[in-house]
Amino acid sequence: MCGVFGVFDHKDAAYLTYLGLHSLQHRGQESAGIAVSDGYDINLKLGQGLVTRAIKSEDLQEMKGSLAIGHVRYSTAGGSNPKNIQPFYAHFYGGSFAIAHNGNLVNADKIRLELEKEGAIFRSTSDTEVFVHLIAKSKEPPPAHIMLHQNDKEFIPLVFNAMRKVKGAYSLVILRENQLIAVRDPFGFRPLVLGKNKSGSYFVASESCALDIVDAEYLRDVKPGEVLVIDDAGLRSYFPLEFPENAKKCIFEFVYFARPDSLIFGDWVYEIRKEMGRTLAREVKIDADVVVPVLDSGLLAAKGYSEESGIPFEIGLVRSHYVGRSFIQPVQSIRDLSVKLKLNPVKQVIDGKRVIIVDDSLVRGTTSKKIVNMLRNAGAKEVHLLISSPPVISPCYYGIDTPTKEELIAANKSIEEIRDYIGADSLHYLSLEGMIGAANKYKQKGFCTACFTGDYPVL
Ligand code: AMP
Repeated sequence: MCGVFGVFDHKDAAYLTYLGLHSLQHRGQESAGIAVSDGYDINLKLGQGLVTRAIKSEDLQEMKGSLAIGHVRYSTAGGSNPKNIQPFYAHFYGGSFAIAHNGNLVNADKIRLELEKEGAIFRSTSDTEVFVHLIAKSKEPPPAHIMLHQNDKEFIPLVFNAMRKVKGAYSLVILRENQLIAVRDPFGFRPLVLGKNKSGSYFVASESCALDIVDAEYLRDVKPGEVLVIDDAGLRSYFPLEFPENAKKCIFEFVYFARPDSLIFGDWVYEIRKEMGRTLAREVKIDADVVVPVLDSGLLAAKGYSEESGIPFEIGLVRSHYVGRSFIQPVQSIRDLSVKLKLNPVKQVIDGKRVIIVDDSLVRGTTSKKIVNMLRNAGAKEVHLLISSPPVISPCYYGIDTPTKEELIAANKSIEEIRDYIGADSLHYLSLEGMIGAANKYKQKGFCTACFTGDYPVL
């Protein structure tokens, strides 16, 4: 989890980055940061919490320059230490740069240890910092088959070298005094899109919803394995690594993570998420009176299920948007009430009905258990829980914050045991083939499904 954003050549670069980060807020709420360049110096503002809290408007007024990058963070690697707030900034013999990362490296600990043994001093616990060190100390020449543009001869080979050493998921934005660089790992685990506005400014973002807010058009994805350099001489694209024919795009982005109004991996999240619900209706037929989404994440799958099955769609659970994930729940009795604070049943919709509830995924199972109980208290005659993805059985090592295997309910219990634990009349998941088929319907190919299969593309 995390979101990245970059701007090239706009007089209000820091402001636009702030807006872009705001649109990517769902990808990380723990901290936010912006780095801006006026062509000579790079300046940084970092803060904890939501974008509006982390970065003040007075801060933005001070952030002069036409190039910027930004980051919203949800900690996966490295914990929630304030030292881990990105972008990271570094000054080295070749100048200075700032870097922001979405994804997770699988060999960061090993590289870090090697670097520390050689005397490197790390200031954070984040895997992203290994990029900073690898870039700064890289010495090898660029691959012979790559013709570098005059502007790229010094810094870009350092990026290539870092890419050769790291393994795992990375969608990066890098800011130099006069360049914006976007990088995507060869598997293309995490999304990264390129856009342009009417006056010719370029933007890079984790999702296209962040292009919409700055009035930029989506041009294309930054491709798996691509290093895209943007400066006054234009756009240049390099592919320094061998990369597999089929990318391994994270299918969980389509299931849960990305915003439904976004275009990622070349397709609309909205369409695919809804198709997952339609497929579920073809796979699982239930006699029921009403289909209710678990808002917000189950909304589109529930809509798709209702359309395909003909069972009426109703908002039978109302969601409060004022409950943060960081809500402090000091005592168990209060903690038990917290799901109610977020979701409350609409008695008129539920009472006396056979209810299907649809959610996008079941992780620990704790939320669903409480929801089922709430619906029964609201008078539901039957409660059927449908999940628009397969059982999550393995942790993600590529940037989604899934708990350990011990905490993943489907890794430890059969579907019948989970149904019993949750207290639903029935529990059904979308099949793996159904989920991939729903995404493939919209020309998608090459997914990472590790959280559902344990089949890890890179370890
Ligand atoms: P639970 O089964 O109680 O752990 O929670 C499942 C709910 O968490 C579902 O509604 C999902 O939409 C949501 N969810 C799935 N993955 C994540 C994640 N990585 N971070 C936060 N929420 C998630």
